[in-house]
Amino acid sequence: MTKPLNPLLEAQPTTIFTVMSALARQHEAINLGQGFPDTEGPHDMVQKAADALLDGQNQYAPLTGLPELRQAVAESNARFQGLNINPDSEVIVTSGATEALAASLMALLEPGDEVVLIEPLYDTYLPIIRQLGAVPRLVRLQQPDWTLPQDALAKAFSARTKAMVLNSPMNPTGKVFTRDELTFIASLLRHYNAYAVCDEVYEHLTFGAPHISLMTLPDMRERCIRIGSAGKSFSLTGWKVGYITAPAPHAGGIGKGPQTLGFSTAAKRQPAGPGGLR
Ligand code: PMP
Repeated sequence: MTKPLNPLLEAQPTTIFTVMSALARQHEAINLGQGFPDTEGPHDMVQKAADALLDGQNQYAPLTGLPELRQAVAESNARFQGLNINPDSEVIVTSGATEALAASLMALLEPGDEVVLIEPLYDTYLPIIRQLGAVPRLVRLQQPDWTLPQDALAKAFSARTKAMVLNSPMNPTGKVFTRDELTFIASLLRHYNAYAVCDEVYEHLTFGAPHISLMTLPDMRERCIRIGSAGKSFSLTGWKVGYITAPAPHAGGIGKGPQTLGFSTAAKRQPAGPGGLR
């Protein structure tokens, strides 16, 4: 008999998206379980990717991503959030936001650290946190308006809190956190000297509400890791190109995650990004 595998990973159920898509196929039902875009994405971006395939360059991209894509991510941060980001020391391109989330949590968490999360939540956060031996502290939004319960949130924080995961605009509720809510969250992060992993893959899908990056609030620049996804922003979800914006002192450590998992993001998936972001 062979030795058992890592029980945490083995016990992890198949992602809900795979389960629901299979059920939808089986019952010939409309699949609202997974977000399939209505369009095939911008043609000029697809054309750029096709051109890149034939450009004769077939070697690894730099560890942190193509310089022109990092530059465009920095410009996008400036244009939409007024953030002044150094593309060389504060941007890391990843294989989708999923890898960006894993890399950020890997860099931040040690066994026993606590992480505050807001429910209902996207399904990759908890498995990674548990895999790292950290302890999730869950706070549920209140229906019907998905109100943030400030008392419960404050109670979830403690001296052991290393980080919070904040998903705004939020999957699955669509909630866009307001400046008042972000100000309250920032006060807790400041008080407990904690980091925030900000999953902002839906930054451009707000149905009119202004999306404010937590990173733009006072004192948050040095403790927020902001994550975006070209796949989400351009309806090219299968492309799996994400980007991390992180404060320079921590970006090197966060980059160790992608370095360990896949070294670098596929070079051919990156050249279409700058045009899209601009
Ligand atoms: N975060 C959220 C909230 C998501 O909904 C998704 C994709 N469903 C991701 C991250 C992952 O994005 P990517 O495909 O770029 O890995």
